[in-house]
Amino acid sequence: MASRAEGNREWAVETAAVHAGEAIDPATRASSPNLVMSVTFAPETLTGFSARDEQGYDGFVYARAGSPTVQQLADKLAALEGAEAALCCASGVAAAHALICGRLGRGDHLILPDANYVGIAELARDTLPRFGIEVSYVDLARPEEVAAAIRPETKMLWLETPANPTMKLADIAALARLAHERGVRDVAVDSTYATPIATRPIELGADFVVHSLTKYIGGHGDAMGGAVIGRKAEIEALNLEANVHFGGVLSPFNAWMILRGAATLPIRMRAHEEAALKVARFLEDHPQVARVFYPGLPSHPQHALAKRQMRNFSGMMTFQTKRPGAEIAARMVKELEVIHYAVSLGHHRSLVYWIGTEDIEASTFRHDAEQRRRYREYAGDGVFRLSVGIENADDLTADLARVL
Ligand code: PLP
Repeated sequence: MASRAEGNREWAVETAAVHAGEAIDPATRASSPNLVMSVTFAPETLTGFSARDEQGYDGFVYARAGSPTVQQLADKLAALEGAEAALCCASGVAAAHALICGRLGRGDHLILPDANYVGIAELARDTLPRFGIEVSYVDLARPEEVAAAIRPETKMLWLETPANPTMKLADIAALARLAHERGVRDVAVDSTYATPIATRPIELGADFVVHSLTKYIGGHGDAMGGAVIGRKAEIEALNLEANVHFGGVLSPFNAWMILRGAATLPIRMRAHEEAALKVARFLEDHPQVARVFYPGLPSHPQHALAKRQMRNFSGMMTFQTKRPGAEIAARMVKELEVIHYAVSLGHHRSLVYWIGTEDIEASTFRHDAEQRRRYREYAGDGVFRLSVGIENADDLTADLARVL
């Protein structure tokens, strides 16, 4: 895998977002990145037939092992995270799967948050045990619980901060230190909600960062993708182990779309945060709203940590209403004019979705009774997950006022 990320690491984030991984094309002098859809590449020297033989070859051979537009995106992501290298995958879940199954095997133990993104929670609950990977679920806000869960065979601690949908934060620096001191090899952070504009987990001691590129980094809701970001040697090994063998590679077309989205990530995140703060304050003052969880509000239980760990509070929040949420959700489906009632998040367009507690308990958080009690304590009968886009905040609050 050719990589230029290391040379780009000194740029400020706004410059890296535009230029990292990109260069004027020497053949055509094209200023914007080319979209290279070619699946195979004619090597200048003999490389052998297995992808293993390509290790150390500084070029492209076959697109499952790497291709130019996907590599440009990988280099941009590495620069944004202040890391050495990145691996792009077909989706955020493909990236999580690549990292977990590429690094762990039979007999290994993984620690996950008790409430994190459903896709990864379900992967851990339904699939990993079949491959002999044991999983423990902990409350990341209780370091003593994390410490108690660590065993000699614990190979990875997985953090998600802020977490989907609880908006709970994890103290990356403290938990990475705790895990490494107790011999845990890998600390991975799903930083999809935060983005590198808010938090750079590697600088805080994490070994790997995972993103759903489908969300803020692509930013426009039109391309799925995922990435694992970390040290060059480990990412190269993971490319062989995960992308070449599992095959969940990112399409160059999606990489090209996400490259274009990533260039405006810093300014979009500023706009998301500005609108989200206004919407969060509006919701907090609304008589029909019971609770709002937004890291940028002083009422967030971990606001002090948010101020320390996040340079941008991002656009994600949850809220609870006094009237039954399912009833309001039904109105939202029909009556919202600006915000779309739809899943996903981090797009330029605002999105809202009702997450009923019974549903999520049945599908996802089926851990022990104490963990279910804690989820119920946070969520009651459910929460609205609101992804504030970059529209005008007054139009968003008017839309919400109509349905509340
Ligand atoms: N991680 C988080 C925090 C997410 O919210 C999501 C999707 O919502 C994912 C990972 C999975 O991403 P994808 O849908 O791109 O597979």
